[in-house]
Amino acid sequence: MSGLMKGKRGLVMGVANDHSIAWGIAKTLSEHGAELAFTYQGEAFGRRTRPLAESVGAKMLLPCDVEDIDSVDAVFETLKQEWGSIDFLVHAIGFSDKTELRGRYADTTRANFSRTMVISCFSFTEVTKRAAELMPEGGSIITLTYGGSTKVMPNYNVMGVAKAALESSVRYLAVDYGPKNIRVNAISAGPVRTLAGSGVSDARLMFNYQKRNAPLCRTASLEDIGGTGLYLLSNLSNGVTGEIHYVDAGYNIMSMPRLDELKV
Ligand code: NAD
Repeated sequence: MSGLMKGKRGLVMGVANDHSIAWGIAKTLSEHGAELAFTYQGEAFGRRTRPLAESVGAKMLLPCDVEDIDSVDAVFETLKQEWGSIDFLVHAIGFSDKTELRGRYADTTRANFSRTMVISCFSFTEVTKRAAELMPEGGSIITLTYGGSTKVMPNYNVMGVAKAALESSVRYLAVDYGPKNIRVNAISAGPVRTLAGSGVSDARLMFNYQKRNAPLCRTASLEDIGGTGLYLLSNLSNGVTGEIHYVDAGYNIMSMPRLDELKV
């Protein structure tokens, strides 16, 4: 343990199980001395999240569905009562109806567009605002995004549009909260086999394609993403805000498949 997060407390939102990106980040933060609180969405996820939270010594595990603003408020009220202040926040929440994560973006319905935007994008603004109120000395906030925001990825559809708005939110929030020494950044992770990831049609095909074509000839692991989470949430990145930091084994720099892939 480096002690990089010693004395720092924060909230992790978005652990569904031990494959979750949020869990990869939480584990790394805990290994470096952070004190953690977690939220979970609904009792079924709560049953899976509880032993994970306990394994890193977390005392607070709170229900929260970001579609229900009262449950969001209750989380931050509890943090205020229990801790008074926090140093960091991890937002790793995304959702879209999987029947629309296939085929054409053009066929997205109004209802699912709105729901996807509220859960996957606007919830970040809502929790950032509440977290910032608990950061009188400054702090660091991250969210999770995907390269389907800037380039078209098959089947990612409305999630790509939501991630584009999320990334823009990161920049606006970085300016809003910069004067309070609160930094706001995003990790743009490469494909990871998670519940949310498997909701996108042909996820396995995309995973294997990126694995073959990324400069590092692999995809990013939970440990890779956890390490970047540690960097962005610790003082190591004190001069960094408003950034979209890719952790994708380099895939985003490619303009075409690797030559060895084309020759297969
Ligand atoms: P996951 O399924 O483990 O996590 C998604 C989380 O979102 C779950 O904990 C779920 O409970 C939560 N969530 C969904 N709707 C919610 C709501 N209404 N209220 C509260 N929580 C809600 O999958 P993951 O891949 O770890 O996803 C975490 C984040 O990482 C998401 O934003 C996702 O878009 C992003 N991401 C994933 C990948 C990937 O390939 N898996 C790549 C880049 C970015």
